[in-house]
Amino acid sequence: MTTAATLTQVPVRVDESKCIAEKGCTVCVDVCPLDVLAIDMLTKKAYMKFDECWYCLPCEQDCPTGAISVDIPYLLR
Ligand code: SF4
Ligand code: SF4
Repeated sequence: MTTAATLTQVPVRVDESKCIAEKGCTVCVDVCPLDVLAIDMLTKKAYMKFDECWYCLPCEQDCPTGAISVDIPYLLR
């Protein structure tokens, strides 16, 4: 589904070809209640800084370009 290689398997994947953080977008960083998303200073793209997630999904829903996919684990309840 995504071509971006993920270095580690974290629940939130950012499609770097869609992310417009370099244009000043910080929506996902701002909406995450856990503060686990950040903008990578080198790539200027959003990424998951800490592997912790409530699967509350505003990051995925509010991203203006649909760059974020949250993988909700099967066994979550
Ligand atoms: S909300 Fe979307 S476009 Fe904006 S920084 Fe996050 S991933 Fe990138
Ligand atoms: S699903 Fe919620 S907790 Fe997880 S990264 Fe997105 S906003 Fe943060």
